[in-house]
Amino acid sequence: MSGVTPSVGEDARDILPLLYGMDLAEPATIRFANVNDAHVFHVHLFRDGDENYVLCIPADDEKARTTELQQVANEVRLLNAQQQRLVQELEEARSELETKRADAQRASMVKSRFIASISHEFRTPLTSVIGYTELLLNESGQNSDVLAHAKAISRSARHLLSMVDNILDQARIEEGNIAIRIAPLNVRQVTDDITTMLAPLAAEKFIGFGAFVDAKVPRVISTDEVRLRQILVNLVGNAIKFTDAGEVNLEITWAQDKLIVVISDTGPGIPEDQQLLIFDAFHRVNDLDGKRGTGLGLNITARLVELLGGSIELESQPGVGSRFELVLKAPESQAAVAADNIYGERKVMGKSRKHAQRILIAEDDPDLTELLGLFLTRGGYELMMAEDGEQAVKTALKEQPDLVLMDVNMPQMDGLSAARELRKKGFSQPILALTASLSVNDRDQAFTWGCDGYLVKPISMAELLSSVERHLHERG
Ligand code: ADP
Repeated sequence: MSGVTPSVGEDARDILPLLYGMDLAEPATIRFANVNDAHVFHVHLFRDGDENYVLCIPADDEKARTTELQQVANEVRLLNAQQQRLVQELEEARSELETKRADAQRASMVKSRFIASISHEFRTPLTSVIGYTELLLNESGQNSDVLAHAKAISRSARHLLSMVDNILDQARIEEGNIAIRIAPLNVRQVTDDITTMLAPLAAEKFIGFGAFVDAKVPRVISTDEVRLRQILVNLVGNAIKFTDAGEVNLEITWAQDKLIVVISDTGPGIPEDQQLLIFDAFHRVNDLDGKRGTGLGLNITARLVELLGGSIELESQPGVGSRFELVLKAPESQAAVAADNIYGERKVMGKSRKHAQRILIAEDDPDLTELLGLFLTRGGYELMMAEDGEQAVKTALKEQPDLVLMDVNMPQMDGLSAARELRKKGFSQPILALTASLSVNDRDQAFTWGCDGYLVKPISMAELLSSVERHLHERG
């Protein structure tokens, strides 16, 4: 410390001016005293006998460490402040995101309500279009031009209907809002129904159609019947739509609790680079000879297959044909299949009736009322009408019809409330709900509130008469 530290006997204040004014006889400690602006000392004043001592302990290193520590402390403070700001910003972003999410949820709910109501608005008039066309097609003595026009109307209306259904399903799947209901079902019955429905389309195009259910398939299995039908109708429907010569086959077998379904056709095939893409929504292969579609069917099919715990595979060769293979979870069930599953309308026609039975049609759409009336008159029934739920309750209680056809969506009092009211008041004849909704919940509610059956619009004459006949027959 030479040049800085005073020697013994030297006046320490010459080197440490800060000592001026201090009582050097009083012990004291001055930490980090600056000397000549060059070095730092801890200065200790103490007395020993008669001598005053000034002890300077170099503190440059300690000062440097302290400064460093202070810097670190400052940085930490700075970082803390930054962190707090970031946390606050994150908090703000999160609450903004939550607001946006809530907005999106609200928007999505509005969208689903909108789609559901649009679907209803479409289905009801389409029922009239399809139904009246059916009447025209069954009219004997029609000239062939009229028949051809009626067929064209029918084709377009059915196409429109399948688009409405696809759009509705797509929206529901998007929202994760599609209900799956696993229940016992008879695959052979499902296959028969699909054949009855689609074989005429193949026949119209002069292509072969075969459906085969292997003996290994148990009589009753568990899966979702509505969705299985939808998948089969989509795949078999596509195969028939795109095949112009040759044949379409549906083969069903079963192994290890799984249903294996193969749909093959001798149609145009699908180029390899398109085989994955066709499962995307709205994707269609170009150059399809004007065959119509939305490109939603396979996307919905693939997602339904997934919801049923299954998988789908495609093999296809352009110019040769396509083969879709599905593997679906479908364990054998010991339960008996209820005759009254929604499609299980078995034909019990031809039973002679003692007297003309009377049916109340409760429906607010006049065109549909008239159409249902025409169908039922042809079936030999007597009719009475009501335009809303309240009227339906009054008329049914007063007139005691043999059966009520109850539209679900009606003004004043909706059809399901009317059914519940009728049951409360002791009305015991069958009530069949008519609805445009395919929702499982709506179907469940109809049964809970006292309906015996459930008919989804559009309703064909055969379906209506067979269902009415069966319910009347069951009541004996
Ligand atoms: P859409 O039939 O309404 O066009 P899909 O999603 O059902 O919609 O099918 C998507 C596309 O996949 C069809 O447009 C067609 O190009 C192709 N495709 C589907 N099934 C077949 C098939 N069996 N044979 C040839 N092409 C097919």
